[in-house]
Amino acid sequence: MSGTSEGPTPAADLIGPAVTDSNHEASRRTGTDAHDPCRTEADASDSYRSAFAAAPLAMAVVDREGLVVSANAALADLLGTGPGELTGRVAADLVDLASDARTWHAYRELLRGRDARLRCARRLKHPDGHNAWVQVTVAPLPDGADGVLLAAADISARRELQGRLRHLQMHDPVTRLPNRTLFFERLSAALDVESYESGGTGRIGLCYLDLDGFKAVNDTLGHRVGDRLLAAVAERLNRCADEAGYGRASAPLVARLGGDEFALLVEDSTGTEQLADLAESVLTALQEPFDLAGQRLSLSASIGVVERQAAGTTATGLMQAADTTLYWAKADGKSRWTLFDPERNAHRMTRQALASTLRPAIDRGQFVLEYQPLVGMADGRLSGVEALVRWNHPQFGMLTPNRFIGLAEEDGAIVPLGRWVLATACRQARRWQLERPDEPPLFVSVNVAVRQVWDSDLVADVAEILAETGLAPQLLQLELTESAVMGSAGRPLQALQALSDMGVRIAIDDFGTGYSNLAYLSRLPVSVLKLDGSFVRGFQYEDSGAHPSPADEVIVEAMIQLAHRLGLTVTAECVETSAQAGRLRRIGCDTGQGWLYSRPVPPDRISQLMDCPFGQAVGNA
Ligand code: C2E
Ligand code: MG
Ligand code: MG
Repeated sequence: MSGTSEGPTPAADLIGPAVTDSNHEASRRTGTDAHDPCRTEADASDSYRSAFAAAPLAMAVVDREGLVVSANAALADLLGTGPGELTGRVAADLVDLASDARTWHAYRELLRGRDARLRCARRLKHPDGHNAWVQVTVAPLPDGADGVLLAAADISARRELQGRLRHLQMHDPVTRLPNRTLFFERLSAALDVESYESGGTGRIGLCYLDLDGFKAVNDTLGHRVGDRLLAAVAERLNRCADEAGYGRASAPLVARLGGDEFALLVEDSTGTEQLADLAESVLTALQEPFDLAGQRLSLSASIGVVERQAAGTTATGLMQAADTTLYWAKADGKSRWTLFDPERNAHRMTRQALASTLRPAIDRGQFVLEYQPLVGMADGRLSGVEALVRWNHPQFGMLTPNRFIGLAEEDGAIVPLGRWVLATACRQARRWQLERPDEPPLFVSVNVAVRQVWDSDLVADVAEILAETGLAPQLLQLELTESAVMGSAGRPLQALQALSDMGVRIAIDDFGTGYSNLAYLSRLPVSVLKLDGSFVRGFQYEDSGAHPSPADEVIVEAMIQLAHRLGLTVTAECVETSAQAGRLRRIGCDTGQGWLYSRPVPPDRISQLMDCPFGQAVGNA
């Protein structure tokens, strides 16, 4: 507005001719043409004045000092005063322009003559008590007139509609609880740096809850009962939250995240104890049976509890932790709460990290084999070795197979890994044989996972590897678990038969932990039983001088005799003491394996052990 050639016009004179801005609401509402040459300026001025006074839009002309020069009836109505009473008042106070810094600054600039337009929404309190939302617009008076025109449009109805729409968007219609969207909005706001640094404990807590057996209610009693149950659960959760919030700045936010999942968000939590109390109270509240239209329903819930510092926490991170913890609560038996455990989580993460690096690790040569002696019980001679794989992990160090074989089986990496183990073990066995051509050769026993039999051509692999390494099939033994061969028909059975026909020996590993159906096993092409370590461990009492466990011995003896009658030889695992070895020998066990003889060792150590038989270790106990 500044810079017009006429220079500033006193504000009091200007309502009317100066209003030229076609965008200007006031100008449109007056519906007059300021440039009609047929009218005298005075006429025009008068009609604008009355138009201004009668306009339905609340308006005021404000001078450079920010004082109201004139206000119309609509504004007086809006503010609950008489029109005359507004003249001379500080305009900014009337519509609360100073309440935020940006608006205030823009307003001051306008008063100083800046050609701009300002718009903001304000809630005004009417003297009769009701509140009105208004949209305030301030713009320079046109044609260089001195001062600004302030207009206030009542937008209460629109705001209310928007509010109702927002409520609908942010709340779940079944339980009337805040929904996922609102929950995440609140969570993100709570994790905002400004919010947790502006006082409070700087911590945040979450109970993430899932109803046990809700699906059954839905399926058997129908969705209507299901919905009513959810609403009743919501009510109880709200009660728990109210009680927890008693005497504190705010109660936990209860939200329905979907299906039968709920969350209680505790801002400014004081520690895990507070969250544990809340979780406990929720479990107790939900344990009470629900009465729904004559139906009495019992319900329980599983809760994952996370409590941590807000700094450095993200909404996704918190939810992931809560999700994992809820999963633990369910896995641990449901109807309980479980606290997030970083160590348990690290273990899970390690599993993931291991799973994702398994395959490349084979090509990178990170796996190594150790060999554990298999010793003849009768003569104490080293007759063979079991190959046991280890993962020399760059980050986690040397890992035993229990850490990764299961993972490898799950994702199929066991197939290439198993092939590598087989080839490496056969090559090594052949090397030992060539090192000592005059001595009876050692056989090598290799563990084979079920999936290798199913998902790869094990027979072809074995044949190829034997041909490649030059190892005689009689010097190779394959260990499979009972569960892998039990009930095997079709392909696995054919594979076992083909291997056996080739001259390769099949051993049943960890025998006794599964079905233990010897008669059935003997019909399969199996020639060795490896007795699980738990049997040998049953012998331990004799060493300590306590009462021996004859029952175990009787069972093992009967098992060995039966195995022999069925044409199988028996190897005992986990032989740790010479007393155990002595008793095993007495009851006819053929071969022993265990720490008594040697732990699993690198291949060159086996070469050394070949020189000294284990006669002494076997002893005569
Ligand atoms: P397994 O085949 O039953 O192997 C024997 C396990 O018992 C080995 O554990 C061995 O170190 C341990 N052991 C030997 N003597 C004693 C003893 O006197 N006392 C005790 N307490 N333990 C003894 P390791 O090496 O950790 O292997 C665990 C399992 O991993 C093996 O059990 C086998 O099922 C599997 N595994 C090992 N290598 C391979 C492989 O190359 N392929 C497949 N599929 N599985 C493998
Ligand atoms: Mg084994
Ligand atoms: Mg075993």
